[in-house]
Amino acid sequence: MQNLHLFSVKNRIDFESNLNFFKSSLFYKCSFILDNKIVLFNNKDCFLRFKGFKNLQIKKENLYLLGKKGNTIFVGASISLTKLKSLSKDKSFSLVNLRDCINLVADDQISYLSSLFFLEKWRGENKFCSKCGAKNKFKNLKNVIECSNNNCLKKIFPKIDPTVIILIKNNNRILLARNKNWKQDLYSCIAGFCEPNESLEETVMREAYEEVGLKLKNLNYLFSQFWPFANNLMVGFEAMSSSIRLRINKFEIEDAIWVTKQELLSLKKRRKIILPRKYAIAYSLISNWQKN
Ligand SMILES: [Zn+2]
Repeated sequence: MQNLHLFSVKNRIDFESNLNFFKSSLFYKCSFILDNKIVLFNNKDCFLRFKGFKNLQIKKENLYLLGKKGNTIFVGASISLTKLKSLSKDKSFSLVNLRDCINLVADDQISYLSSLFFLEKWRGENKFCSKCGAKNKFKNLKNVIECSNNNCLKKIFPKIDPTVIILIKNNNRILLARNKNWKQDLYSCIAGFCEPNESLEETVMREAYEEVGLKLKNLNYLFSQFWPFANNLMVGFEAMSSSIRLRINKFEIEDAIWVTKQELLSLKKRRKIILPRKYAIAYSLISNWQKN
């Protein structure tokens, strides 16, 4: 079973217990974010390389600590246009959506960039304490936000929404469905958010019944993946349905079809159907089934 895991940080380190990472002998690669857009240099690279921390000219408490690979520390920072112009010097730059970066930069940059995007958005949405209204402080060594009022000190940890995605099978067929808001001809697996007081297994059963009227059995966990665009932890399952009769919830689902491997191949060839992109967990669920 294979999944691309494009957004997983492979070289995460515990920065809190490795405080010597600000040593001047190390190299730093810094990516920048401005108005929730990633800065892309010379149309191909999102990191500037610095020898020594001081050359970065950014206070260490304002950095996002992304990872370490060999002698290089990967960091990120929110930046103003003026500062960006002074740091990038002779390089041209543009501001790019995280999703567009995927086609423009090397795969090993994407996990760090998705972490930068997540942390900046999360920090921006939690500037003030929800309990007492005081200003919050971001603590980058632990990735915790803490209220600055000493009588409060409310902590906020990163918020991730668990979501299930299900490869529904019946004999030699799988179910593909399209949400009414998706781009034309895009089909994928049934998916949905966990409700409060619900296990992942219960979410799988509920979503399949709510969206297409199927009662599932033989649930099997396959793999999971972080989805940075909406802070989802996508948890991938396969499950069986003994019935193929669908009752489609038209508020959410525009169409749902059962396909065999041959039928899917033919639909793709005739461009009647578009599958999710390679970096989506749905692509892996469907393509692993096709290969078996
Ligand atoms: Zn507070």
